[in-house]
Amino acid sequence: MIDSSSASPGRGGLRRYARRFWFDIPLWGRILIGLAGGVAAGLLLRDSAVNLKWMGDVFVRLIRMLVVPLIFVSVVAGVASMADPSRLGRIGGRTLALYLGLMLVASAVGLTLGALIKPGVGVDLTGVTPETIDQAKPLGQAMLEIIPINPIAALAAGDTLSVIFFALLLGLGVLVVGEEARPLKAVFDSASSLMLRLVHFVMELAPFGVFGLIAWVVGTSGPGAFLSIFKLALCVILGCAVQTIIIHGGLLRLLARLPVLPFFRDIADAVIVALSTSSSSATLPVAMRVAQMNLGVSPTVASTVLPLGVTLSMDGTALYVGLLATFSAQVFGVHLELADYLAIMAVTTLVALGTAPVPSASLFLLAAVLSVIGLGPEQTALIVGFILPFDRPLDMLRTVPNCTSDLSVCVAVARWEDELDMAAYVAKPVE
Ligand code: ASP
Repeated sequence: MIDSSSASPGRGGLRRYARRFWFDIPLWGRILIGLAGGVAAGLLLRDSAVNLKWMGDVFVRLIRMLVVPLIFVSVVAGVASMADPSRLGRIGGRTLALYLGLMLVASAVGLTLGALIKPGVGVDLTGVTPETIDQAKPLGQAMLEIIPINPIAALAAGDTLSVIFFALLLGLGVLVVGEEARPLKAVFDSASSLMLRLVHFVMELAPFGVFGLIAWVVGTSGPGAFLSIFKLALCVILGCAVQTIIIHGGLLRLLARLPVLPFFRDIADAVIVALSTSSSSATLPVAMRVAQMNLGVSPTVASTVLPLGVTLSMDGTALYVGLLATFSAQVFGVHLELADYLAIMAVTTLVALGTAPVPSASLFLLAAVLSVIGLGPEQTALIVGFILPFDRPLDMLRTVPNCTSDLSVCVAVARWEDELDMAAYVAKPVE
């Protein structure tokens, strides 16, 4: 008689071995494997790689599902655990000043590269189908709408800034009420640990999600997309590298006096998720986890600086829009003076503040910025029509500095506030 049990321990053992082998690789390594596999699958499958996109969609939906509850509970818990409410003002002030300063620099980097490499010279827009795009809201209205009329509606609509506003007030209230609000504080503390745990679970799917998203982008856009806009893509790649490595690295090295290598090693998960999802909003839960678990930032600083950054700080976006402004000026033969460059920097920074942290959001800013150099809606529609087919790969690149600006500012503020655990910062991340 054949003993049927004799075959299964072998298979079970193999499965156990494969599982151990997979989980022994650190998460960033597994995500990199997903990324490399996605590139290979995209090149191999070409257009049929679209059939793998669902894996990415599942991952993005799971991670986006966590964004609103995570922001809400962690901002309340973070503010409520401040010893002194006046620190909130100091942390907020430093954070906003850094975010604005970095965006101005990012826009200057985009303008400089555009002026040097001249990606728009020789570009012919005949045959391009114009694409009109709704304009971003005026800044004044966008600022007013930060105050939610109905906080529950803001939570339901996933209105990040309004949720932060309400959560900040609630956290301050818990601080001021003190003893009586203690049970509520305990609830938010435990809810915020729980949410981080959920992020951890969802991140186990990141290698597969990244695989699906990258296969889809490479398969449907292909390297050909980069070739047809070679100079513009080169500017975006160079600009994002300069902003991330030199500017964000420089902030940590020179202003926060920290070694930069641990920073770049520890944020790998967040960078790859930003790259593959093209959404800083979807990257927020990973960034929160990375900041607290890998970089040693205290929950108080991570939960105030990062959610603000996800909506307000958009270095990659400011860089890209600055670059597109020079690109458009070159395409339409508009000569730019120093005053134009300064005006573009100011407008880009202001409108980038209100950009939604979602794919292709940059294009919504173009109309406002291009009007500064005298280009009208028809010309903007032509530029958008030209860029749109290639926007996804460029969006992936610019979302990386959008994410590293938040994380570098978070670490710098934590350092100045004495809220950075140096031993955890320099140590290798624990899985
Ligand atoms: N995709 C970018 C982000 O989510 C925004 C953009 O520049 O389009 O950060």
